[in-house]
Amino acid sequence: MTLYLVEQISIIDILDMCGFCGNDEESTYHALTQCTYAITFWAKFKSLTGIKVPKLNPRTWTRDLLDTSCCKDRYREVILCGMWSLWNARNDRRHRKSLIESRLAVEWALKACFHLSTGSQTLEDRRQST
Ligand SMILES: [Zn+2]
Repeated sequence: MTLYLVEQISIIDILDMCGFCGNDEESTYHALTQCTYAITFWAKFKSLTGIKVPKLNPRTWTRDLLDTSCCKDRYREVILCGMWSLWNARNDRRHRKSLIESRLAVEWALKACFHLSTGSQTLEDRRQST
């Protein structure tokens, strides 16, 4: 699951000007880590979870997320859920839907993490009971 998510976000390439902050080049890295919307999102995310996105190299950031010396295992999937939520918010804005508040995007990410983790626990519980 984690590798799949990293592969998916790494194939999204440079687009054009960022529609949110006006940066000249809207790369995936920009949208997920550098944009003012992302910065606000990650600040709220950290205040709710205590999890801070590690410092990522713009050229190797997708691999950095898989490197345990850069990104702790227990935080990786939560951060990826956050990135997925940010990307969806970006796409909604880009496709002329209204921009959701970053607070709602954080809530969506945390709900997705909860559902993924409880689904995993349910499978684990099933394995132990058989
Ligand atoms: Zn931007």
